[in-house]
Parts: sequence; structure tokens; C-alpha cells
Amino acid sequence: MTFEHRLLVGFEEIKTVVFECNTCKTRVSIPVKEFTAGLVSCPKRHGWVTNSLAIERATAFDALAMLIARLGDPIFQEQSGFRVLLDFDSPQRD
Ligand SMILES: [Zn+2]
Repeated sequence: MTFEHRLLVGFEEIKTVVFECNTCKTRVSIPVKEFTAGLVSCPKRHGWVTNSLAIERATAFDALAMLIARLGDPIFQEQSGFRVLLDFDSPQRD
């Protein structure tokens, strides 16, 4: 028998956006409320390519779909030099 554990979270539950460098694995955590612009490198100055994430003239839902597809694409992650993780509080169990 296989058990599966899944979490369903809303965007409002995301606390921080975490960038992890592909080269050195350093993680940079930015609180969602302070996240206003992309980063160009990790603290150890390994370059990150963030301009390929540009999404212009798209509805919010179209932009969300494109963003999720790109950030989850292993080829994009390799080419950009980083991957993105989302941090949120574990839900309370009743
Ligand atoms: Zn690095």
C-alpha cells in the first residue's frame, strides 16, 4: 500500500520565497512582503539569469501558468543558475 502526503496551500500562506544557487547551494530567503525584484546572483556572486522570466502583456492567470511552468522546468533551472522554493507554515491538524 502506498501512502501519499500532500499539502494544499493558498498564496497568502506563503511566508518566504527561497532562491537556491545551483553552484554552491546557498539559499537566500526573502519574505513575500519584501520580495519586489529578482536577484542577479547568490551571495557568493554566482550569476543567476533572471531576465528570461519576463512575462509581458499577459493576464494574471496566464502569467501564473507560465511562471509555474518555467520555474518548475529542470532545463530552465539549470540554465538560470538557481531554483525557487516556497516556504510556508505547516497547517494545523484538527
Ligand atoms: Zn552560489
